[in-house]
Amino acid sequence: MEDTSKKARSRSGFELLPPSPEQRKHLEADLTREEADVLLRHGTEAPFCGLFLDEKRPGVFTCRLCGLPLFLGGEKFDSGTGWPSFTAPFDRDHLREERDTSYGMTRTELLCARCGSHQGHVFPDGPPPTGLRYCINSVSLGFTPAGEPLPDKLGHGAPEGQSWRRAQGGNDR
Ligand SMILES: [Zn+2]
Repeated sequence: MEDTSKKARSRSGFELLPPSPEQRKHLEADLTREEADVLLRHGTEAPFCGLFLDEKRPGVFTCRLCGLPLFLGGEKFDSGTGWPSFTAPFDRDHLREERDTSYGMTRTELLCARCGSHQGHVFPDGPPPTGLRYCINSVSLGFTPAGEPLPDKLGHGAPEGQSWRRAQGGNDR
């Protein structure tokens, strides 16, 4: 389905227009100090991931700041490091990658493609079929259990604010 608004929309149909300065101010005011340190000032983040260790339900992990879906709960795996990780993003359009050379390492940093907040890193040592390991900070994410409405923090409307079903056509890769 093609339409004229597709430029600002991701493959799975989500609006990728960044929050307005006013919306951003409102969203940032809602963060705890720890969340703000990781999401907005990622230099202070420790170089490991600690994602929702006990969250095993199916559902959608979303950006803590702007609510964009970033990962599916069913695609979490035990990386053997003691920290759960993901093998694939919800939608490749929803994450932006940047080279990160902090801590004396060269890593690929992951940012929310909509609001630019820091999410974690992706490493090329994951299991098949993707071979990727997405290592995400738990404070960077929110979780919406399957069947519950996704957040709609920016007021864009559907598919935000509705429950997500895989059959809707997302999860392209
Ligand atoms: Zn975001």
